[in-house]
Parts: sequence; C-alpha cells; structure tokens
Amino acid sequence: MEKRLRLAPSPTGLFHIGTARTALFNWLYAKKIEGKFLIRIEDTDFLRSKSKYTENILEGLKWLGLKWDEDPIKQSDRISIHKKYIKKLLESGNAYRCFTTENEISKLREEQKKKGLPPKHDNRHRNLSKEEIETFISQGRTSVIRFKIDEKIQIKWIDQIRGEIKWQGRDLGGDLVLSRRAMGYEIGDPLYNLAVVIDDNFMNITHVVRGEDHISNTAKQILIYEALDFKLPTFSHTPLILNSEGKKLSKRDCVTSIDEFREMGYLPEALSNYMAFLGWSPKSTESEILSLHEISRIFELADINKAGAKFSWEKLNWINSQYIKNMESVKLSGIILKYWENMGWEPPTKEWAIKLVILIKDSMILLKDAIEQSKPFFVLPRIEKEGQDFLVNNNGELSLILILNYLTKQSALKLDKENAKEIINEISKIHNVKKGILMKSLRVAFFGSLNGPDLVQSWELFSENKSDILRIERCLKLI
Ligand code: GLU
Repeated sequence: MEKRLRLAPSPTGLFHIGTARTALFNWLYAKKIEGKFLIRIEDTDFLRSKSKYTENILEGLKWLGLKWDEDPIKQSDRISIHKKYIKKLLESGNAYRCFTTENEISKLREEQKKKGLPPKHDNRHRNLSKEEIETFISQGRTSVIRFKIDEKIQIKWIDQIRGEIKWQGRDLGGDLVLSRRAMGYEIGDPLYNLAVVIDDNFMNITHVVRGEDHISNTAKQILIYEALDFKLPTFSHTPLILNSEGKKLSKRDCVTSIDEFREMGYLPEALSNYMAFLGWSPKSTESEILSLHEISRIFELADINKAGAKFSWEKLNWINSQYIKNMESVKLSGIILKYWENMGWEPPTKEWAIKLVILIKDSMILLKDAIEQSKPFFVLPRIEKEGQDFLVNNNGELSLILILNYLTKQSALKLDKENAKEIINEISKIHNVKKGILMKSLRVAFFGSLNGPDLVQSWELFSENKSDILRIERCLKLI
C-alpha cells in the first residue's frame, strides 16, 4: 500500500517555525519510506484564514526545499462532504443535536469552576425526544451536533514516537462538538476534529505526524474513525519547540516566521538542517551538517525525542556559517550580489566579486553580514584614531609614499597575492623599512584602521580598479 503523509496547516498566520518543522519531519519520513508528502490547507476558520497566509506557507515550503507530491487540498472545498458524514453519524446514533445555549454553557462552566472541576459538557441533550427537539427548534434555539463519547471507554494507541498512549473517555470534555451552530434542522459548518478525520481518510493518509498539542485530539479522532469504520493511520506526536526559558516558542521570542529567518540571512539548507535536529537525534551519525537528502536516508520517527526541543540561536548560527563557508563561491556570490545591489554597490567584474566572496565568507554567519564585511571594498574608509596614531608614531607616511611610488612606476603590474608579498619585501630591503610597518601602514590606507581582512588578498582586489593607489593618495592627504 502506498505510504502517504501530510501537512495540514491552518492559514491563520505566517508560516511558523513549528509548522515548518512538522512539515520537515513529514517530508523526511515520506522520503525515507518512499511515500508521498501531501498538503491540506485547513481553512475552515473563515474569520482568521487568509489566502495570503496559504501563499506564504506554500512559498516557505518551496524555499525550504520541501516539495509536495500532489496538488494541495483545500478543506473549505469539502464542507458538503463533511456534512454528509455528520449526517451519517446522526443517523447511526453516534451523534445528536445539542441545543444548549451559550448562557447555559457559561453557567455550567462557572459551577464546575467553583467546585474546582475542569470544563466538561454534561451531555444534557443526549437523549432528547422528537417532541423536545421540535420544541427547542420552535423556540428558535440553534443547535450543534455532538458526538457521543463513552465515559467508561479507554482509548489506546501506539504512538510512533511516544509508545503506548492511553486516554480516558471521561477526560475528553464530554460529548464532542462536530459542527458550528445552525438553525432548525440545518447542520452547521464542520469543526476541526471531524473534518480532519474525513479528509485524512479521503486522502488515504497512512501516517499522521503532528505536534504534541494534538494528543488529546487524536484520542477524539480515533473514536470518530471507529464510528465511521475508517482504517486508522499510525500517529506520531512531535515535541514542541521551546524558547531558552523552556516555554513554547512564540511570537514573543522575536523571530518565529520562516520569512523572518529568510530576511535575517539564513540559508534554506542551513535552516532545514538545523530544524531537523530540533527534536531528532540520529543514532547512526555524529555529523550535524547533513543535507535533507542525507537526513532522509537515516530518518526514523522513533529517533524523535519526547521532550521539548530548545531552540538555540547559537547552534543555528553555527550551522548557517558552515553552509556559507562550504558553499561554492560562484553560487554564493550570486546570492550576495543581491545584497550589494540593494546597497547600490557594483563590483567591477564577476571575477572580482567571486574573489571578494572568497575573502569574506569565512567570517560570515548570516548572509546579510556580507554587507558589513564587504563595505570597505565599496566605500572609502574613515581614518580612525588608532590608524592615524599608528601612521604618526611609525613614520607611516614614508611607508605609504614608498609603496605609492612603486605602484605608479609599475603601472602595468598585475598585482596578485604572490607579487604583493614580493613588493613589500623589495621595498623593505631597499629602503630599510620594517615589513610590518609597511603592511600596517597600507592597512590603515585601505581600511582606516589596523583591523580588516587578509591584507594581500585585499590588495589584489583594490588593485583591480586602481583603488589601492587612490586609497594611499587619499590617506596621505588626510593625515
Ligand atoms: N490544522 C491543524 C494545525 O494547524 C492540523 C493538525 C493536524 O495535523 O491534524 O494545527
């Protein structure tokens, strides 16, 4: 039988890291068992669902490299089918109309609160007679459909991550509401627990992998599966993602939407690699830098931890820096070019851009770091006090004049790492100036201070458009 997994996001907000990690686990396992990864958009909360969020979720999945195998299903297209099943449950006696008003429910809650009891419906309309139903309807009362939950029943399943889970019928909050309120004999719009069972069955889902916040829903859904005589999928409940204080990661933790990670300069490969390790610990490898393809080969649901997974910026940053460092420089320069373009910076040649990327990539953590790191190559520096002091105290002016003379005499010289070193050696020998002084003076002319990237590699870049001469002349004027 074909193995089928799905992500069932509600498009009520931007694509969240928790949903993305659920998507990733589903995708990885689908690949591992050569199954299919599907999408169902659960958009039946009409007030909060927005098509811009659906687009955002699908865009985010694509960006992360999590391709789905069939056209996404929209839950709102299937409402009439859901209602048919609700009718079936009414007819089979598994469900009934409940006319309890909002006021009556609030009163019940208050009484329960006073007694220190959890909220639970008292199933008061489970056995209404035809006449009683008609009276309620003639009074203009609206009704929901409730699914009967046997108080004495125990629901059990083998969770692929958590092992055996047991749930008592009496702990499920009373008979389960399947649909929203409706007038007369109408059936209102279906609610999550009903719709999810009908749709998972329709999509032939064999493995449900979702967050641990759905464990009690699973207990309820199993009862609906059984009442409708549907084949049960396997269930896996993944751990929550926690912030540094051990609480569920939320908007308050600043960044939670995938867009924000993208804007901050994380690479999709790095983010998905990091997310895979958020709650999953492979037995078969020590390596933490793995492509999705590599992970999918060793991914097991049983290796997902039960305990919550702490989100670590430090680890994510480290993984991102590794991906930047290891990325092919031509590809990376294509990405970084966009950041330069936004700043209005134009590299003289493609080769120059690649050389600059090679120079800065080891010190980058985020893609946007490319701006700060490459700024000195596009913008003339301010001569800082420490640079100025160095030149004054070490007769740096002479060093700069000697280098400038050399360069202007040899205007046809194609400078590279090797001959740059030779030039310094030669000037040092002929004019008896220490190499260190020559190099530090040059550094001040190039960067305005004694810090900055590798000097000879930088020189090679500056010399490409004679910016080395320009910077030395400018520095001599400024000091
Ligand atoms: N729409 C639900 C959610 O976003 C889906 C849960 C499920 O996977 O069944 O939490």
